[in-house]
Amino acid sequence: MDIKTVGVIGAGTMGNGIAHVFAKSGYNVVLVEAQQAALDRGLQAIGKNMEREVSKNKLTAQDRDAALKRITPVLDRKELARCDFIVEAAFERYEIKQELFRQLDQICRPEVILSSNTSSISITRISANTKRPDKVIGMHFFNPVPMMKLVEVIRGIATSDETYATTKALAERLEKTPVEVNDAPGFVSNRVLMPLINEAIYAVMEGVATAEAVDEVFKLGMAHPLGPLALADFIGLDVCLDIMRVLQSGLGDPKYRPCPLLIKMVDGGWLGRKSGRGFYKY
Ligand code: NAD
Repeated sequence: MDIKTVGVIGAGTMGNGIAHVFAKSGYNVVLVEAQQAALDRGLQAIGKNMEREVSKNKLTAQDRDAALKRITPVLDRKELARCDFIVEAAFERYEIKQELFRQLDQICRPEVILSSNTSSISITRISANTKRPDKVIGMHFFNPVPMMKLVEVIRGIATSDETYATTKALAERLEKTPVEVNDAPGFVSNRVLMPLINEAIYAVMEGVATAEAVDEVFKLGMAHPLGPLALADFIGLDVCLDIMRVLQSGLGDPKYRPCPLLIKMVDGGWLGRKSGRGFYKY
C-alpha cells in the first residue's frame, strides 16, 4: 500500500515531533488530540520548531509553509479513517492504549498498520486488543524527534515480516535509522537507561552526591551530552516513574523498584522541565 496520510494520536512532546517529521517528509498528517488546548500547544510547538530549522537554513520558509499545511488537527478520532498508517503517542498508560487500539481497529481500514510510540508497554499486549495483531508494531521515536536519528522498531509476538519491512522503510523515509528489537519490557533503550537514571536518583537520595555532581561524573567521565538527572528532567519524571513501574511489574525483579525520591517528586508535581522543577529549576 502506498502510504500518503499518517494519523498521529497525541500532540504532546512526542506526538508533535512525530507529526513534524512526517509533514516535513511530504506525508499528510491527521493529528488527533483529546483536548483542544493540547492540540493548540502541539501546533504551536511544531510552528516554533520548524521556525528554528528555517533560521538555521535547514528548511526553506516555503517548505515549512507546505509542511504546516499538510497537518490537519482534529479532535474526532473518526477522521483517522482516511489514514494509511497510524502512530499512537498518547499517555504511557496501558488502559489508555487498550481503549485506543480497540477503537483504531474499528476506525482504520483492515490493511492499515497500527504502531505505538510506547516507551515500555508490551506491543504484544497492545496488539491483543485488535483483530490485526500481525499489523501492530512499536515505532519508538526519541525526544526531540526532529533531531534524534534512532527509531526502535519493536516486533510483537504476531508482527508480520511485511509490517516490519513497511515500518522500517517508513522510518528511513523520515531520514531516521531503524533498529530492530524484540518485544520485552522497556525494549533495549529504557531497559538499560531507566535503571541508570533510577540508580542516579538513589545516589542523590542517599547523599552520595548532589544532582549536579552526579551529572558532572557522566558528562566528563563517560562523555554523555547530558547527565542522567538532567536527562530525567528532560524526559519527564512522571514518564520515568511509569517506565520503572512497567519494568518492575514486567520483569518481576526487585532491582527495578522505583526510587522513593522519584515517587516523592512526582507526587509533589516536580515533573522536570515541563513543570518548571525537577532535579533542576527551569
Ligand atoms: P505527553 O504527556 O507530552 O503527551 C501525550 C498527549 O496525548 C497529551 O497531549 C494528551 O492530551 C494526549 N492524549 C492522551 N490520551 C489521548 C487520547 N485518548 N486521544 C488523543 N490524545 C490523547 O506525553 P509524551 O511524552 O509525548 O509521550 C507520549 C508517548 O510517547 C508515551 O507512550 C511515552 O511513553 C512515549 N515516549 C515518550 C518519550 C519522551 O521522552 N517523553 C520518548 C519516547 C516515547
